[in-house]
Amino acid sequence: MSDDATKVTPARLRRDAYLYIRQSTLYQVIHNTESTARQYDLKGRAVALGWPEDKIHVIDIDQGRSGASAADRAGFQQLVAEVSLGRAGIVLGLECSRLARDSADWQQLVKICAHADTLICDEDGLYDPAIFNDRVLLGMKGQLSEFELHFLRARMRGGILAKARRGELALALPVGLVRDGQGQVTLDPDAGVRDAVRLLFSTFTATGSAFGVVRAFREQQLTFPARHHRGPRSGELFFQPLTHDRVLTILHNPAYAGAYAYGRAAHATGLDGHHHTTARPIPEWTVLIKDHHPGYLTWAQYEANLAVLAANAAARGDDRAAGPPREGTALLQGLVVCGRCGRRMTIRYHIRHGTQIPSYVCQNDGIRTAQPICQHLAGDIIDAAVSDLILAALTPAAIEVTLAVSDELTAQAERADQLRQAQVQRAEQAADAARRRYLAVDAANRLVADALEADWNTALRALAAAREDYRKATAAATALNAQQRDKIRALAADLPALWNDPATPVRERKRLIRLLITDVTLTRNHDCMTAAVRFPGGRHHVLRLPLPQTAWQLRKTPSQITGLIGQLLHSHTYAQIAGELNAAGHTSSDGHPWDGDRVAKLASYHHMPSHDQRLQDRGLLTLSQIAADLDAHPSSIKRWHRLGLITGEQADDRGIFRYHPGQARPARADTENARKRLGDDHRSGRRNPHRKSGRPRTPRQNVRPPGNTETTSPEATGTPSQPPYFPATTRGAV
Ligand SMILES: [Zn+2]
Repeated sequence: MSDDATKVTPARLRRDAYLYIRQSTLYQVIHNTESTARQYDLKGRAVALGWPEDKIHVIDIDQGRSGASAADRAGFQQLVAEVSLGRAGIVLGLECSRLARDSADWQQLVKICAHADTLICDEDGLYDPAIFNDRVLLGMKGQLSEFELHFLRARMRGGILAKARRGELALALPVGLVRDGQGQVTLDPDAGVRDAVRLLFSTFTATGSAFGVVRAFREQQLTFPARHHRGPRSGELFFQPLTHDRVLTILHNPAYAGAYAYGRAAHATGLDGHHHTTARPIPEWTVLIKDHHPGYLTWAQYEANLAVLAANAAARGDDRAAGPPREGTALLQGLVVCGRCGRRMTIRYHIRHGTQIPSYVCQNDGIRTAQPICQHLAGDIIDAAVSDLILAALTPAAIEVTLAVSDELTAQAERADQLRQAQVQRAEQAADAARRRYLAVDAANRLVADALEADWNTALRALAAAREDYRKATAAATALNAQQRDKIRALAADLPALWNDPATPVRERKRLIRLLITDVTLTRNHDCMTAAVRFPGGRHHVLRLPLPQTAWQLRKTPSQITGLIGQLLHSHTYAQIAGELNAAGHTSSDGHPWDGDRVAKLASYHHMPSHDQRLQDRGLLTLSQIAADLDAHPSSIKRWHRLGLITGEQADDRGIFRYHPGQARPARADTENARKRLGDDHRSGRRNPHRKSGRPRTPRQNVRPPGNTETTSPEATGTPSQPPYFPATTRGAV
């Protein structure tokens, strides 16, 4: 102690004492209280050495932390900080190497303590790191501590591994599997739990995606069992809504396939001092014992499920293989393979006339190497041809498929119903047990009786809720079933009708097509497309399809129509030609009836001379020309034309006329006679009412001349060969 007395100098006593307490695991904190008590005893040691109690600081915030690294231990860092700042006169710890488990941390602390003139104290003694002997001793203690940790770990790990290799290390079991009295793994004796797990796997098989499983459970209002792993309710069962990560965990867990697996993940400590866990591929697992215990699926099914999950993760790998059916209209989504380079093809959508048109594109190499895409095919033509092929191929098998679908739906509904019933039964049992506990207790024991009565009430409320859930779910299920059955009958009667029914979701169609087709290899040739459809079992069928018409081809008017218009322009205006074409049953290239505007545009596009141009070429005169020739006012020309004394032809849809050349000026007597004969009164400017009955009015053409809203001009509607009736207004000629 005399040695100690020299070490405890007044300078050190003026500074504070730091007592560092730690336990490496929470288990130790709870159960190894002896060690904690010993560590606190060191406080008495510090008092004995001369430090007043109020200057002794206890650092115990690292309790329950593993000591393998200082990174996560705020308490240790605080200790180092205090020492560095020269505030610590002494640092106390049980087996002082426990101060730090890592030798590097320890050596650093010893060095800092030496510089800061701080003592280190443990149960065995008091050390001054500034003294060479003490420093060596402390260094050795640190190294021994590290050895101890290493051997302890190696021994533990060796024991664990040996046990795991025999398949005897008791690993935590997922819900649905339990250990019996002998420690053997068996299926959960609770039928409700077993059914729920089985339903999860069968739903995954049916939907092909973890998300689909979650949705199916949610739609049917089904919950999934889980067990408390620790705490006072450890081992107790409870039900909760199924989540996506839960489904993934279950699908990845080999225990459900009856396999015993150990070391499925690699653990490593990063440079930041944090632990990282990464999943290992199956061949790298430390221990894998197949057929170790009864399971819910075979190893082959387990591997198949993992393959489906891997394929669904569209971002994984460069070959985006068939993903789960999605909502887009491309029927062969995920099934198309490029006939040129053998890669999976992707889908692009574009909108034509308001509908989504898919096209299949091979752009894999194009994206990677920034080159033009490999090939690009019109999806609608291919989809239609493959649909036809399937419907043709399906006729004999249609009933079988339908029945299988029907059976599957019924079985699924029954399974769901059983699960819901089991939930009600469980609630009934719980309520019954609570009732019996209440009845068994002595009524005089008020406190216990009250608590048990409250339990009973809670159980009864849970039972009422479970019954209500069951009632709602079955009501929903029966309503659905009636509809489903009708749908199935329709399906059995006529699969093609259902297939073509727009109400059938695209996703269902895709799911069906995936049952019937393995893949489709598409190739675009210079004159056609080929689609090689491969069926399960290796049979295949090659479809030869026409290339889609280009937008220009689609819009192009057939040449015979163009030719007809060219001929008709000799004797007809645009509106008149439109009337002729419509009467003959022709429509324009985009399916609309013809009108003067469309004919005019087409004629202009093909550089056809207009009707007016043709009349001019034939030497017919404009109104002003003939007026000059005959030395008359234009209004006289119009009157003579109306009276049939000179001849002309309608030049356009605005009612403008051209007049034949070489006509003589009518004599005044002829004009008077004609006017009397036709009852024309040029002064009133109105038609004689007798004319109406004497001459039937020419039927109006239901066509408007282009660019002119004023269409009531009688000249525009009359035929040029007959002199028109009296006009309401007079129009000037060109
Ligand atoms: Zn390609």
